Amino acid sequence: MEEKGITLSPKHGLNPSITHCECCGKEIGLALFGRMKGDKEAPKDIYSGLCDDCQKVIDSKGLMIIEVRDGETGNEPYRTGRIVGITKDARERMFKDVKSPIVYMEQSMFGPMFGKYCGN
Ligand SMILES: [Zn+2]
Repeated sequence: MEEKGITLSPKHGLNPSITHCECCGKEIGLALFGRMKGDKEAPKDIYSGLCDDCQKVIDSKGLMIIEVRDGETGNEPYRTGRIVGITKDARERMFKDVKSPIVYMEQSMFGPMFGKYCGN
């Protein structure tokens, strides 16, 4: 009979990871992996799903803009830690061609546009 739920890892117990909002990085909760293939240890942090704040912006057709270092490319660019959420209206004014609800922006562009809202 197959048990639902998790199998404890002999080495790592519940084998938890802290889950973070994949947009802003805020902690959302814990994910318990238990015994993984090869009894590996779960990563300490995983970025998956959205926190309520980011979800709200995206649900209302706003746009989340994540600042990244200049020259970064690829799917995991280096983030500076600054992030803004803009409303649907602002999105339509400034970013009407952007399809994705979450975008990366290089800091040389982000700074002049949003720096003043981020405290520097
Ligand atoms: Zn978030």
